[in-house]
Amino acid sequence: MSAAVAKVAVVGCGISGAVCASLLAGKGISVTVFDSGRGPGGRMSQRRESSDNGDLLFDHGAPYFSISNEEVMDAVSSWERMGLVAEWKENFGCFDVNIAKFVDLENDGQNKKKYVGVPGMNSICKALCYQPGIETKFQTTIGKLDWLEGRNSWLLSGSGGENLGHFDGVVASDKSLFSSAHTPLTGRPPPLDTTLIPELAVKLQDIPRHPCYALMLAFSEPLSQVPVKGFSFKNSKVLRHAFCDSSKPGRLLSSSNCECWVLHSTAEYAAGIISKTGIKKHTSAALIEIAEELFREFESTGLVSSRPFFMKAHRWGSAFPASSIGGEAMCLWDGDKRLAICGDFCVSPDVEGAVLSGMRAASKLSSLLSCL
Ligand SMILES: Cc1cc2nc3c(=O)[nH]c(=O)nc-3n(C[C@H](O)[C@H](O)[C@H](O)COP(=O)(O)OP(=O)(O)OC[C@H]3O[C@@H](n4cnc5c(N)ncnc54)[C@H](O)[C@@H]3O)c2cc1C
Repeated sequence: MSAAVAKVAVVGCGISGAVCASLLAGKGISVTVFDSGRGPGGRMSQRRESSDNGDLLFDHGAPYFSISNEEVMDAVSSWERMGLVAEWKENFGCFDVNIAKFVDLENDGQNKKKYVGVPGMNSICKALCYQPGIETKFQTTIGKLDWLEGRNSWLLSGSGGENLGHFDGVVASDKSLFSSAHTPLTGRPPPLDTTLIPELAVKLQDIPRHPCYALMLAFSEPLSQVPVKGFSFKNSKVLRHAFCDSSKPGRLLSSSNCECWVLHSTAEYAAGIISKTGIKKHTSAALIEIAEELFREFESTGLVSSRPFFMKAHRWGSAFPASSIGGEAMCLWDGDKRLAICGDFCVSPDVEGAVLSGMRAASKLSSLLSCL
């Protein structure tokens, strides 16, 4: 095997997988990216919804990201030059529900710049995974990752057992690939049998996570009583944040006056619902009920004077990892099997952590494959 023909499978096309795939392809490695979703982005996805007023777009996962690490800043600057990212320069604040007032109009406790993907949060992942040297396979769920000792390679199979090819190395960028705590919906064992990698197995056992519900809202008139474009809620057990999606730079709007907002629930609220309903997929009726409950809390602030013409809730069962397992390496790594594990759960529960982890995984894998 030579570096020119080395083949790597990257499982997951969230930002950690996309960054990793792009760096590997830049080193001349042939990369195939698999994701169960319809397109790239993972928790940085953008969702298209149809309404009577035309199509609506919502960043229903991460609303923006901030950066403190210089290496990530360099990457973000290059994405900014390519027009994939822009700074979101609006004012942010904090609304105290108990006194029904904005208590801090100028800042939300964070002084860092806020960046967004343009025209949607998924733009970075999209650009990274469609570059030369990368083949993408969406709506393809990896059901099994088998290490073939005799062939010294990985065999990937789909959720129905179909053969998806042999690879010299694998990047696993989602917890559900190795932790059964994250695959309760399928009831099947996770794709990666961690007894294959005993030195990493303990770290991979269970990574606690916080859930969150996102509420997508579209109003035909701007919310004139809200003086900021993003705010946190103080003293609400139900709502944590609200963001005016349509105020982000480069958003394409179906109707010029329409204003799209995305609200995030508190982790406690989401955990309370999940403890009652279980992790199984919600029925449409249950999701409507949750949407109504979240909207009632928003309405009770007095900041909303009309019903939205569009309203829908989305559950993120695993929105934020509650611990990080990557240590100084910022990823997990088995050199013998050429397996790298990356994602925000290796560094910090945010976009910056995921980017760093993807960078480290690419560097481990490419240095090994180029030595072969
Ligand atoms: C509601 C919400 C708000 C957030 N707010 C912020 C914020 O303000 N700032 C910030 O920086 N971050 C925020 N985040 C966190 C941020 O979105 C994540 O840290 C980051 O996007 C994680 O990227 P990742 O690549 O590690 O994982 P993911 O984006 O989760 O990517 C993993 C991918 O793997 C795929 N996958 C999983 N299993 C399989 C399989 N078996 N086969 C094929 N594909 C599979 C999934 O479909 C997914 O696309 C927020 C997240 C949410 C949900």
